[in-house]
Parts: sequence; C-alpha cells; structure tokens
Amino acid sequence: MQKLAIVGGGISGLSLAYYLQNDYDVSVFEKDKWGGKAYTQKIRDYLMEEGVNGFLSNSPKTLELCEEIGIKPVKANENSKIRYIYDDKLIKIPLKPLDFLKSDILSFKGKLRVAMEFFVEPICDKEESVEEFATRRLGKEFTRRMMTPMLAGIYASTPAKTSMNAAFPKLKKIECEYGSLFKGMIKLKRGGQPSGELHSFEYGMSEFIEKLKEKTKANFIKKEIKDIDELRDFDKVVIATEAFVAADILKKYEKLSSLLKRIEYNPVAIVGFDYDKIKPVCFGILTVKDRTLGVLMDKYIFPNRNGIRAMVGGARWSEVKELDEEKIIKIAKNDIEKITGAKNPKFTWVKLHKNAIPNYSLGHQKLVSDIFDEAKKAGVYLHGNAYKGVSFNDCIKNSYELAQELKGKNV
Ligand SMILES: Cc1cc2nc3c(=O)[nH]c(=O)nc-3n(C[C@H](O)[C@H](O)[C@H](O)COP(=O)(O)OP(=O)(O)OC[C@H]3O[C@@H](n4cnc5c(N)ncnc54)[C@H](O)[C@@H]3O)c2cc1C
Repeated sequence: MQKLAIVGGGISGLSLAYYLQNDYDVSVFEKDKWGGKAYTQKIRDYLMEEGVNGFLSNSPKTLELCEEIGIKPVKANENSKIRYIYDDKLIKIPLKPLDFLKSDILSFKGKLRVAMEFFVEPICDKEESVEEFATRRLGKEFTRRMMTPMLAGIYASTPAKTSMNAAFPKLKKIECEYGSLFKGMIKLKRGGQPSGELHSFEYGMSEFIEKLKEKTKANFIKKEIKDIDELRDFDKVVIATEAFVAADILKKYEKLSSLLKRIEYNPVAIVGFDYDKIKPVCFGILTVKDRTLGVLMDKYIFPNRNGIRAMVGGARWSEVKELDEEKIIKIAKNDIEKITGAKNPKFTWVKLHKNAIPNYSLGHQKLVSDIFDEAKKAGVYLHGNAYKGVSFNDCIKNSYELAQELKGKNV
C-alpha cells in the first residue's frame, strides 16, 4: 500500500484521512489540536466553541459522513430562525417577502431599489467585489445593511475586500443563468431546493472530531512539519494547513510558495460570556460597523450551552490581533452591553485566532488556479479552507473530491 502523509489535522485533513483509510497507509500530522478551528472547550458548565459553531444541512456529504461514523447531529431549535442586525438599533431580519415590505430594515426607497433587481442586466464576463455586485443589483442601502453584516459573519471580511465570484459562486451562477437573482430563486424554489438548517452536536464540534478520528484507521502523529523534505518517505503528500504555513513548508518551490503567501487571513477573537436572561432570544445579532462583528446566542439554540459568544475584529478591525485578552474582553463586553442592555456577566472567556479565516480577495479564483498548477508541478496536493470554500461543509465536500482524485476516480 502506498504511504500518504496529510499535514494538518483540522476537518479538511481528518475527513480526507477518513475517505482514504482503505486505499493508503495514511499518517496525519498535527502540531496543535485535532480539529483545528473545529474545537470545543469545556470550562465549568460552559461549552465554548473556539471556532465552528455548526453547519447547514444542505450539503449531503456532511450528513452522510455523520451517518457513516455513527453520530447524530443536533438541529438548532426554532430560535435559530430569529436573527437581528445592529445598526445603532436592533432590527429583526424579515424572513418572508411580506415581512420584508413591513420591516424597517430598509427605507421605502431602499426597498424599491431592491425590487428593481428583476430588471438589472447581468454581468458575467468580469469579476466583481461583493460590494460592486450587491450595489449594482440591489442598491447601496441593501449592501450596507445586509451584505456588510453577512460578510462579517461568514468571512470576517468586508464586501469591498471580498470577491463575489470566489465567495458566492452559486449566487453569481444564478445571476448569469437566470438573468436576475430573484428570477433564479423563484425558479429554484419551484424546483424544490431546500435551504439548509443549522446543526451541531450535543457536546459541540469536538464530539464529531473525536468520533471521526475513532472511525479512521490512520497514524495520528502530534508533530509540526516545517519542511516538505521531512516527508521524503511518503509516496504522496497533502498539505491541509493554512496557506501561509503551506508556503513555509513548500519554501523550496519558490513560485508556489510566493503564490501561497498571497492568500491573506483575517483575525478573529471569540469572546464567551454568560448574562442572565440576555435579550433578544434569537440565533444571533450581526453588526454593521462595530468592532464586535456579531453575537451568537448559543444558549438559546443548542442543548448543553449556557453561554453566548461574540466575534470581534475581522478585516473591519484587524488590530484585534495585537491586543491582550483583557482588552479584547473589555471591548466585546462594552459592545454586547450597548447592543443588548445586559449587565454584569457571570462568566468570561476568550480565544484569539490571529489568522482565523482566509480572505477570498479579488483575483482569488485565478490565484488558486495558479497555485494548483504549481502544486501539480511540485507533486504535492493542497487542501483546506484557503482555496475552494471556507465552510465546514465545503471542507468535507472538497475532502471527498480530493479522495476520489487520489483513488484515481473522477468525481
Ligand atoms: C472563529 C471561526 C468560526 C467559524 N465558524 C464556522 C461555522 O459556524 N460554520 C462553518 O461552516 N465554518 C465556520 N468556520 C470556518 C471553518 O472553521 C473552517 O473553514 C474549517 O474548520 C477549516 O478547517 P481546515 O481543516 O481547512 O483548517 P484548520 O481547522 O485551520 O486546520 C488546519 C490544521 O493544521 C494544523 N497545522 C498548522 N501548521 C501545521 C504544521 N506545520 N504541521 C502540522 N500541523 C499544522 C493546525 O494546527 C490546524 O489544526 C469558522 C472559522 C473560524 C475561525
């Protein structure tokens, strides 16, 4: 059997090991925590996710994997449908078209501009930022009120810094296939495409990671790999770390390494609190301009969670990575108390990710294509959230596809 080395024991590396366990003699190298950004801390009565909060049920590969390894995901309760934006005041996000018309999420003029989306010509021959795309199709007000919080919540980035084509390829495809997002969505709803529901696990994401490891026949090695030459004994090598770490490991391939270094990362601090009876009861609140990008009300949506978590920093406020824990907690606490009116937390906790999430900047797809061409020449495989999707679901789907390639099958 050929020997395969996977560097990085996050969900990308671990799920790849699972899919290839019967085809290769697999070794996974992890320098720190198994699960990477999917890691749950238990402090007293509090389950605190350091990173991944959950995943949507609209990606079959994740659900299939859960079933195969024998773990049952937990669906978020009905509160998860209640979401807010904070823009100097709390505004409930309307879920139905009629609620949207009645809501004060946009001015009358802003709503009219959104309705004009039906008539905006598609642009399919050039890359745009999310800001350019959303302003062109849905107007400035929508971009500020809806896209800015959304980008902060998913990518810890801003609409101006993010490529529409790389970050939301499905929406871009809908625009080009149907001529308008609304026309496409109406058609697709008729086609019966369900939107996903948020899931996690009873005791957090680490429960899944532990089960995945248990069901994977591989050598799990706690070791930091610094140079590709350390893996000379392996027939194949997959680097499933952050892109800048891959750049370092692959420094002898100068062009590949310099391309990998161009993928930037946004910092995020996750700050946990517990406040008695904090309001509103909901899934979470995303902000338009604060240093706290959003608040996740874990205790109102999943079992065994007693706290809430704030996400602080991102591209909006990258200085967070220079601050000590005490200052970060103070900033998050001030923001949460301003937003919700809560006072005197019973519990505080913080986890700073200096390089939390890769930024899919303009040119990302071309950069990734160049990186993969160079990696092919070097005879290594690159994997992980830096390239073709940041979500937990994307990582598992991409693992499945890479596994098929490594087994010599076309997907
Ligand atoms: C704060 C936060 C919240 C998130 N929330 C969600 C969410 O709710 N839903 C969702 O779908 N996605 C979420 N994401 C995105 C998701 O977490 C990630 O895309 C996914 O977990 C990344 O997995 P990965 O294996 O590609 O990378 P990572 O998890 O970063 O794993 C890379 C691994 O490589 C290891 N490593 C690094 N260098 C070396 C080395 N030299 N040698 C050996 N090992 C090394 C690291 O220690 C790490 O374990 C979130 C991300 C963050 C940061």
